[in-house]
Amino acid sequence: MRYRAMAAGEGVRVIMETALTARDRVGVQDFVLLENYTSEAAFIENLRKRFKENLIYTYIGSVLVSVNPYKELEIYSKPHMDRYHGVSFYEVSPHIYAISDNVYRSMRTEGRDQCILISGESGAGKTEASKKILQYYAMTCPASEQVQKVKDRLLQSNPVLEAFGNAKTLRNDNSSRFGKYMDIQFDFKGAPVGGHILSFLLENSRVVHQNHGERNFHIFYQMIEGGEEELLQRRGLERNPQQYHYLVKGKCPRVSSLNDRDDWKAVRKALSVIGISDEEVEELLNIIASVLHLGNVQFGMEDSGGVYITTETQIMSQLLGVEGTLLNEALTYRKIITKEEELMSPLNLEQAASARDALSKAVYGRAFTWLINKLNMSLAFRDPVYPTGRCAAAIGLLDIYGFEVFQHNSFEQFCINYCNEKLQQLVIELTLKQEQDDYVAEGVTWEPVQYFNNKSICDLLEEKFKGIISVLDEECLRPGDASDITFLEKLEVTVGDHPHFVTHKLADGKTRKAIGREEFRLLHYAGEVNYNVNGFLDKNNDLLYRNLKEMMCRSENRILTQCFERDELTDQKRPETTATQFKYSLAKLMEILMSKEPSYVRCIKPNDARQPGRFDEVLIRHQVKYLGLMQSLRIRRAGFAYRRRYEVFLQRYKSLCPETWPNWQGQLAEGVATLVRHLGYQPEEYKLGRSKIFIRLPKTLFATEDALEV
Ligand code: ATP
Ligand code: MG
Repeated sequence: MRYRAMAAGEGVRVIMETALTARDRVGVQDFVLLENYTSEAAFIENLRKRFKENLIYTYIGSVLVSVNPYKELEIYSKPHMDRYHGVSFYEVSPHIYAISDNVYRSMRTEGRDQCILISGESGAGKTEASKKILQYYAMTCPASEQVQKVKDRLLQSNPVLEAFGNAKTLRNDNSSRFGKYMDIQFDFKGAPVGGHILSFLLENSRVVHQNHGERNFHIFYQMIEGGEEELLQRRGLERNPQQYHYLVKGKCPRVSSLNDRDDWKAVRKALSVIGISDEEVEELLNIIASVLHLGNVQFGMEDSGGVYITTETQIMSQLLGVEGTLLNEALTYRKIITKEEELMSPLNLEQAASARDALSKAVYGRAFTWLINKLNMSLAFRDPVYPTGRCAAAIGLLDIYGFEVFQHNSFEQFCINYCNEKLQQLVIELTLKQEQDDYVAEGVTWEPVQYFNNKSICDLLEEKFKGIISVLDEECLRPGDASDITFLEKLEVTVGDHPHFVTHKLADGKTRKAIGREEFRLLHYAGEVNYNVNGFLDKNNDLLYRNLKEMMCRSENRILTQCFERDELTDQKRPETTATQFKYSLAKLMEILMSKEPSYVRCIKPNDARQPGRFDEVLIRHQVKYLGLMQSLRIRRAGFAYRRRYEVFLQRYKSLCPETWPNWQGQLAEGVATLVRHLGYQPEEYKLGRSKIFIRLPKTLFATEDALEV
């Protein structure tokens, strides 16, 4: 490697100088090197120059900024991976592999759990980035036969999760409709030996409804397009998505960028690699098929006001593994249990349709959870020598659904944007606030940087008793006349004067035209979104009538029996609402992330048309703003690129100084001071805090790293 052969520090100089001479054309590879680093225009210009040259990656210190190229670039091959393997950050051009390698090496040298937080709006390239990171570890980490199996399973979990959890939306043809946090667990030799996936709130309303121009989850189309003739026949399916109501509500069953038939083959293979048996695959496909049939169930009205089913249900009951008469009854009647008796109350047309849809959502959503559990069993770390042993450390990858704004936004967008708001808060906590707090705690002089803190928006959403979720839950639990509109009215009373909440009502009694009467607007950190309250209560309640549940508990489909457990029927406690469950799982996620050492990938979407080479400046400026990239840069420039606890620093470099080698007997701070003096650090290059050394520029540390290898 070029740099390794050079004298200490020289390589960095060469790279910096190359950057200088080529700057006019390709910009700088680290925004820290920008002369006018406080100028947003200079920042965007640098991004633009690099984007034009297909240089989609740029650093802000150790943060990677990535712009979606919307075309395949020749930068992800094995030789590219080799170039980054075991090499320090600044020695090579910015790349997702450089971050991956850096994180891996930090985990190995410091023995600490790491996480990579990937953020950006829908379509910005988060999922692609997370796949590239996983591929990098699969290709570069040491492997035995057993480890190879784990690597294969980790890699193959992606096509399965995407088939069942991703869908075409107006923003992204392969949009993640669930949040994913995946831990890759490593052993003491640095080999990946296991994994664990946490999933968050699948958007299961998509199973029964899609907005215009959108699709249902990929798996439905893949099975219809790619499934063998016999496989479809056995399930009473036709090879034509137009036949199924649930597949054509968005009026776009085919997407040019997707090949459902090829993807089907990939998914089938992946299911077998992750260890799902043939019988289980059969049962799983029965569930998928049953949902399609359920979507086609139609009702007629009886003179008495009740309803009856006008369509064929036999194949559907077979697929669901339930008795036909029971299914017919459960879709047209509702069981009411009073103290004295059990009553069967007939459903009207609207109720029957919503019972049908509720069943479809529950069946699909729970099958998705079953699949995640299955994946986790397959990825579980098993130490052959110490069965109860722990892995050495883990790297977590967070890939959630990105912030989204549509013409019509509902409960789903509310949850997705809430999740993004929480992630943003965490990023602020970890990068901006914590960084500044660190200087204060360590007694290092430093000029604070102003930043936008979104805590007040998070409070507006989730605060106990007063937040929007609390008000929503209250309305969901309130018997009587509670409705979506009463929910909106309560919001006006409770949070109406919050600076980030707006409705159509103006203070002088007039109305604001841009907000509908059934809408509220939230001023999110990433932009304004109008939410229509229609359906909020139902979606938050997500209730399944008791007789539908009872029926499903008796299903002969072995996956469904695991999904609908009998305990649920006897449990008297009302289940938590959807939003509250989500709130708890996000809190748990934040806790996990806080316990790890974070690295960041900030993804930017260059244009809304999804075209290569198009750099929409207005769109990009907006993202640069709300991702807080200018603040990150300012902090980076004002501060110190590296910090290490004294014991870690001394342990690593003590061999470079005769006075600290082999063991320093005195105070740690003194040892570090002696060591850096010996290494020739200049006073302006570093500062010593209470427990850490702060190093201003990366090149200082690189020179020291290199000295280790001489
Ligand atoms: P969502 O929040 O909707 O899930 P996302 O941020 O995960 O969005 P991706 O699905 O990763 O977005 O990316 C959208 C599309 O952009 C991809 O399907 C791919 O076509 C393209 N893309 C993203 N990153 C890259 C890349 N590095 N190289 C080539 N194409 C890319
Ligand atoms: Mg995604």
